[in-house]
Amino acid sequence: MKIAVIGAGIVGLSTALPLADRGHRVTVYDPAPASGASHHAGGMLAPTAEVVYKQDPLFPLMRAAAAWYPELIDLTARYTGEPTGYRTEGTLVVARDRADGTHLEELRAYQELHGMEAERITTRQARQLEPALSPALAGAVQIAGDHQVQPRRFTRALIAACEAAGVEFEPRAVHDVEDVDAEQVLIAAGLGAAGITGWYEGANPLDLRPVYGDILHVRVPGHQYPLLTRVVRGFVEDRPVYLIPREDRTLTIGATTREDGRDQPQVAGVHQLLRDAIEICPAIEECDLVEATAGARPGSPDDLPYLGRVGERVTVSTGYFRHGILLAAMAARCGADLVEQTLPPISLEACDPLRHAR
Ligand SMILES: Cc1cc2nc3c(=O)[nH]c(=O)nc-3n(C[C@H](O)[C@H](O)[C@H](O)COP(=O)(O)OP(=O)(O)OC[C@H]3O[C@@H](n4cnc5c(N)ncnc54)[C@H](O)[C@@H]3O)c2cc1C
Repeated sequence: MKIAVIGAGIVGLSTALPLADRGHRVTVYDPAPASGASHHAGGMLAPTAEVVYKQDPLFPLMRAAAAWYPELIDLTARYTGEPTGYRTEGTLVVARDRADGTHLEELRAYQELHGMEAERITTRQARQLEPALSPALAGAVQIAGDHQVQPRRFTRALIAACEAAGVEFEPRAVHDVEDVDAEQVLIAAGLGAAGITGWYEGANPLDLRPVYGDILHVRVPGHQYPLLTRVVRGFVEDRPVYLIPREDRTLTIGATTREDGRDQPQVAGVHQLLRDAIEICPAIEECDLVEATAGARPGSPDDLPYLGRVGERVTVSTGYFRHGILLAAMAARCGADLVEQTLPPISLEACDPLRHAR
């Protein structure tokens, strides 16, 4: 079958690859592949640590994505030797002061209630695992099942894998699905999906908005490497911060959340991230600052993705908000099934792309 995928972010690429692997002729359209949210993301694969209260419909999607991630990584590795930054050491969540400790314990109870595995450990045990952590922490939880990829590496690897699997890339934007010559079309253009026409009557039914996040990359001096060996998330005065160690000696520090429409990294955000990261891991102060950047998460009103068929020829897959790197494995498997008009292995009822149609 001839298939057009509009958008080469992590979602479009992760879906194009299995479609090509299943024998279809796939063309991916994007004027600037992997330049959107996927370029700026941290890359935590955190179905447990990233749980947000009262977002129950998201949990099975995140769980499925985590379970299917190794499959997506293996498929990529079958077509390319490019690194993905996939690491499975797990995640530590720590609290800075007593109030943060209470918050952490409440979150752990909520995770447990929903069948997730989060083990309370002493701060001493946490520092045995990660000696660079501050001695002044007030609580710690270990989450073995939360992993990571390095999004820029992974999207590069996905592009290489897609090319090796026969996917063609057309470096142009598509504004109307009628403009592409294909039997089936997948709209996976992140925030850009809200501007693509030709598949609905009236106003575009996708209610997408940019939720900006500042994020930093620092380099650990040679004598201190590796400063950390797994993802560390922290609560500092109730603010979340995360530190992601990479094999290239960098650490990613993220991320703020703001809806002010400003697409450049903000001084207040950079200041907050550095201050909170140093509270958790004081030696961050000695790192080189490599990059401060800001990206826009494609948010929907209920924080759930838009994933489903919207007609004979078109499937929509966007709105992955703050979990799109993780959810890409679910988007890939279910999106490929939807394009092939077969039943996906999990219920996508909550993800109906037309649920916010005005
Ligand atoms: C600071 C930050 C940190 C994050 N951290 C994490 C994290 O740790 N874990 C996690 O799971 N998620 C994280 N996310 C969320 C994640 O980045 C997104 O949910 C995910 O990248 C969305 O992927 P996507 O492919 O849908 O969109 P994008 O990556 O935005 O890709 C969309 C692509 O479509 C293209 N496009 C747009 N319009 C058109 C058009 N008309 N025609 C053709 N192409 C078009 C664009 O050029 C772009 O390449 C983070 C996001 C941010 C901003």
